[in-house]
Amino acid sequence: MVVIVDTVTNPLRPRHPEKVNRPDSASPPKPDWIRVRAPNTRGYADTRNIVKSNGLHTVCEEAGCPNIGECWDKKHATFMIMGDTCTRACAFCNVKTGLPNALDSAEPQHVAEATAKLGLAHVVITSVDRDDLADGGAEHFAQTIRAIRAACPSTTIEILTPDFLRKEGALEVVVAAKPDVFNHNLETVPSRYLTVRPGARYFHSIRLLQRVKELDPTIFTKSGIMVGLGEERHEVQQVMDDLRSAEVDFLTIGQYLQPTRKHHAVMRYVPPDEFSSYEKVAYTKGFLIVSASPLTRSSHHAGEDFARLKAARAATAR
Ligand code: SF4
Repeated sequence: MVVIVDTVTNPLRPRHPEKVNRPDSASPPKPDWIRVRAPNTRGYADTRNIVKSNGLHTVCEEAGCPNIGECWDKKHATFMIMGDTCTRACAFCNVKTGLPNALDSAEPQHVAEATAKLGLAHVVITSVDRDDLADGGAEHFAQTIRAIRAACPSTTIEILTPDFLRKEGALEVVVAAKPDVFNHNLETVPSRYLTVRPGARYFHSIRLLQRVKELDPTIFTKSGIMVGLGEERHEVQQVMDDLRSAEVDFLTIGQYLQPTRKHHAVMRYVPPDEFSSYEKVAYTKGFLIVSASPLTRSSHHAGEDFARLKAARAATAR
């Protein structure tokens, strides 16, 4: 089941104007290994109340994540800062597109307060893409990290950022705020970029991750791709090599699910044993940890994975 949340209140304005005139694309029926828990527990309701009462957005809702029932039951929500409207128009993503509103200067504090109320030992912060801002939102990310550090000093912080393409100096601002984990997803293999992620550049994203390690080698780096978008196996292996060249620590691989019929079709449901095989190959290439399964998402089990990351680094340092 894919949860599709449509927050559009103006019926004249579609959620994805750039996709309205695209032909529908049908995906094959979901196999039985794609099973998710319905979002109807007490924990889910509590998480939802805290998110709403702080006026926050989450990628869990906006992207229609299939894990929302499981994660929110455990009070694990991934905050999406800088509004609910993205300036890119990726073919896989259900986040609303268009021209965003001005930044909310109180948002970093609200995120910090919600982190405290949820009692998060590890928090994940992502954002929409803000190509309209001179720094791509880098300073807002840094302020959010600092506000969480002040309110919740023992909480570890993971950020999942846009690519800051053509935003000179932006990455340096974010890295200087010292997140514990810096995640930037490649999303797919380079041959699929023009179709799947047309506003981005594959080698720019690789270089972004490499530059994080150059600026601060203590920060863990992480990246992920979706499979089922028409990629070949050897291309996935090439992505692994490119990420290891950039010294990326943690790789996630999950199944792409189609949010609506106007989005990119699922070309194939990759069976669980193929994910296991990807995981084995990735470990041989030197990642500290790898998560590869149909329902893997970059922020799924992020807290537990952070503990594994630290343990894996400590083991290699011995
Ligand atoms: S996997 Fe991530 S985006 Fe999905 S519900 Fe869990 S925390 Fe939210």
